Amino acid sequence: MKFRTRAIHVGNAPDKETGAVVQPIHMASTFVMPAAGEPTGYDYSRSGNPTRTAVEVTIAELEEGCAALALASGMSATHAAMLLLESGDHVLAGTDIYGGTYRLLHNILNRSGVAVTLADSTELAKFEAAIRPETKMIWIESPGNPLMSVTDIAAVAEIAKKHGVLLGVDNTLASPVLTRPLTLGADIVMHSATKYLSGHSDVLGGALVVKDQELFDRLYFGVNATGAVMSPMSCFLTTRGIKTLELRVLEQSRTTMKLAEFLVEHPLVAKVNYPGLAIHPGHEIAKRQMTGGFGAMLSFELDGNFEQAKKLVESTKLFQLAVSLGAVESLIEQPASMSHASYAAEDRAAHGISDGLVRLSVGLEHVDDLKNDLEKAIAIATGESKVS
Ligand SMILES: *Cc1c(COP(=O)(O)O)cnc(C)c1O
Repeated sequence: MKFRTRAIHVGNAPDKETGAVVQPIHMASTFVMPAAGEPTGYDYSRSGNPTRTAVEVTIAELEEGCAALALASGMSATHAAMLLLESGDHVLAGTDIYGGTYRLLHNILNRSGVAVTLADSTELAKFEAAIRPETKMIWIESPGNPLMSVTDIAAVAEIAKKHGVLLGVDNTLASPVLTRPLTLGADIVMHSATKYLSGHSDVLGGALVVKDQELFDRLYFGVNATGAVMSPMSCFLTTRGIKTLELRVLEQSRTTMKLAEFLVEHPLVAKVNYPGLAIHPGHEIAKRQMTGGFGAMLSFELDGNFEQAKKLVESTKLFQLAVSLGAVESLIEQPASMSHASYAAEDRAAHGISDGLVRLSVGLEHVDDLKNDLEKAIAIATGESKVS
C-alpha cells in the first residue's frame, strides 16, 4: 500500500466493540486484571495505553521501523534516546541541531558525565574526525535549521557503522513523507510530533522509531522508567493529523518552492536558503534523499540589518509572528531575536545566522495570498529603513 493509504489505515482498525470508524480515546490510567499479576495486555498507562499503541503503530509503519514510542514532547523523545548513554560516553552532534537539543546536551546530559562535541555534519571528513573511542551516539538533523543545511544521512550512517556508533536523526523538518532515515541506515528516528505529524498547532508530542527490537526494548525501558509518555488526547490528535500528513507536506512543499522562486527573483532579497533551489549547497544531496519535495521551511535575508528584519517579521498579516513550525498556519520569525536568541551573537555569526535572517514555516494557505503578504511586508520594511 502507498504512504497515504497506510497513514489512514495502519494502526486504525475500526473499534472491535462498536464498529466506530474512529477509535475511542482511552483516558484510563489503569486497567483491570482478571487475576492478580495477570494483565491482559495493558496494566497501567505509563507502561502502555491503547490510544498510544495506535499512534505508535502508525508512526513506526510510516518511518519503516519495527516499533515506535510516543512521548510527551520532542525534547522528551530526544532525552529518551540519550538515556541510552552512560557516564564517560561521548555524543557527536551536527552544528545545525535544534536549540533545545543543544541545551539538553550541554546543560543536562553533561551533568551525568556525557561529553558532547558539535561538528558540521555536511563536511563528512571533518565530522568523522570528531569521533572518539568513547563516542556512542551521533545526532543529526536534515534539513538543519534555520539555514536548511542538508546532511547526507546515508553517508553519515556509513561512518557511524564503521565506528560502531548509534546514529540518531531528528526527522522533524522533513517528516517521513520526504525522508525515511531508517532506510538510509540510521538507527533511531526522532520526531517533534508537535510539528508536521500532528500539523495543526494543537499538540505537544514526540516520537522515537527504530528498526531493531533489542534497541526498542532498551528505549522502552528508559521511557517506562522516566515516564514522559504522550497523553491519550495528544495521541488521538496526532493519529488524526497523520491521516492528512502526506497531502499537507506535499502541498506545503510545493507552495514553499514557489515562494522560494519568488524570493530569489525579488530585487530586494539578497539571499534565499531552500534545498529545492539549485543554488543551495545541499541541493544535489536533497534531490537524492528527499522524495516528493524539499520541505516547507525556508529562510531569507534582505540586504539589511536587525531592525529591518524585525520590521519585516512584524509586518506580515497571514504569516503569524511565532516560533514553531509544521502546521497549517504559516509562521514567520527572526532567528536572531527569537528561535536562536539564546545563542551568543558570535556563535550565531559563526553559524551564518545573520541579524537580518528571516525564517518562514509555510502552511496551507494559497500561494498567491502568501506571496502578496510577503511582498507588502518587504515593501514596508525596506521603505521604513530607507527613511530612518
Ligand atoms: C520543535 C523541535 C524539537 C523539539 O520538540 P518539542 O515538541 O518542542 O519538544 C526538536 N527538534 C526540532 C527540529 C524541532 O523543530
